[in-house]
Amino acid sequence: MSESQLRQDLVRYARSMYQRGYSSGGAGNISLKLPDGNVLATPTNSSFGDLDADTLSKVTMEGELLSGQKASKEILMHLAIYRQRPQCGGIVHLHSPWLTALSCLPDLDYANALPPITPYYVMRVGKLPVIRYIRPGSPVIAQEVEKLAAEHNSMLLANHGPIISGKDIREAVFNAEELEETARLYFMLKPFGMNTLTPENVDELNTLFNMK
Ligand SMILES: [Zn+2]
Repeated sequence: MSESQLRQDLVRYARSMYQRGYSSGGAGNISLKLPDGNVLATPTNSSFGDLDADTLSKVTMEGELLSGQKASKEILMHLAIYRQRPQCGGIVHLHSPWLTALSCLPDLDYANALPPITPYYVMRVGKLPVIRYIRPGSPVIAQEVEKLAAEHNSMLLANHGPIISGKDIREAVFNAEELEETARLYFMLKPFGMNTLTPENVDELNTLFNMK
């Protein structure tokens, strides 16, 4: 796919998420890997609702700006994931309501914030490890993300929000949608308790349909 098509894709997916309430104001950022090995990302303080394909930030894997507007300081997290996951072609970082609410719960399991309640969550994401609260934009967040990224396509930043990857931007967005919906179901079910898939159920899915 050409760089021009990928620029249009990024703008289109961002607007779609904005319209559905996944990102408000200037919150969150998206990036994708270009065929030339550089990274295209949403600029700092931009809104998912009205991005301009021509002024997106194009940066090297070292974070140097090649063209467009200045990248978000959170680009460091994205670069850490691309380094650890050569198969990754797109990343979505959101402050979406259900996942951000989840990231603030007092009884979070840091090894896996969401139990295996549906097969699609298991197939697309599997486990959602939590990274302790670190101020946004700190280089320490990128270091912590880098430690987990080889093993996990998605992570939850405590009191902040999720960072989610996929083999391309489309898959990263699909994974983000699945994860946000799973968090919403989790809150709906929490007052009642819930049946989760068994370890055997999870193993079966991982053997047959692992999309991670
Ligand atoms: Zn953020």
